[in-house]
Amino acid sequence: MQTPELLFLKPYCREVIWGGTKLKELYGYETGGDHTGEAWVVSANEEQQSLVTRGSFAGRGLWELWQERRDLFGNLPGEKFPLLVKVIDANEHLSIQVHPDDPYARIHENGALGKTECWYVLDCDEDADIVIGHTAATPDELERMVAREEWEQLIQVLPLAKGDFFFVPAGTVHAIRKGTLLLEIQQNSDVTYRLYDYDRLQDGQPRELHLQQSLDVITCPHRPQATAGAVRHEDGYSHQRLVSNAQFTVEKWDVHTELTLPQPHSFMTVSVLAGEGAVNGESLRRGDHFVAPYGCGDLHFEGQLSLITAHM
Ligand code: ZN
Repeated sequence: MQTPELLFLKPYCREVIWGGTKLKELYGYETGGDHTGEAWVVSANEEQQSLVTRGSFAGRGLWELWQERRDLFGNLPGEKFPLLVKVIDANEHLSIQVHPDDPYARIHENGALGKTECWYVLDCDEDADIVIGHTAATPDELERMVAREEWEQLIQVLPLAKGDFFFVPAGTVHAIRKGTLLLEIQQNSDVTYRLYDYDRLQDGQPRELHLQQSLDVITCPHRPQATAGAVRHEDGYSHQRLVSNAQFTVEKWDVHTELTLPQPHSFMTVSVLAGEGAVNGESLRRGDHFVAPYGCGDLHFEGQLSLITAHM
């Protein structure tokens, strides 16, 4: 049997009111305008699929391959590809939101998946911050503060720096804010409950809030998450495990000269954050993303590359 090729991908880009121009300027992505908020760099969703750019599958979408060539993904079961990787450019605050976990989504959202996500900060403004968690000690206090709209007291705002990593399990109150560029790796779900939108109007109307669902699913009190593991320095590269749980394992690799990475998983996503080099002889640069399919063999990286990988 032929060894499966690496699936290099071109993102699906999405225009939104809070987006900016960095995805076009920094990575050269083909965007539809000057308010591009999201590049779905590894997406196997029917309406927003990333497209293969090289090799014998060039021009085909990742959703199509998930439907027709499940062998490339280790014959994983399920209707939906389990992960979604995005690069997000926030030029304005995003609404404050929370996602349900799998059991709640299954019952209340027609069998959908819940959503656990994580963020690696690629760049941010000097005064940028981020919302993770809340200050209510009990569900009663949470309900009272939401009813009284005491948002400033309720939400927990943390300072932000380039290279920060955040794990955002289902049930965590969170928001990406103005001046932040980040890589998001998440369960492939779009079930979002909006808690607060800064009283903004869109076309003269406030956007819909989902207060009852939010109260149902918010973890209370907030549970701070352990930060990333220690950096391990090896010959030619360094390695750091960012998070590992039931949904995904995410790791960071800094290649100084070379790195050989086994790929024993059903699939692995690879995102190039910075640098230039090659993988198995194929050129790689900042902003490239690919899927290493099941059975593709070792990945041999050369050059100077900063990478984030994710697998189940
Ligand atoms: Zn979210």
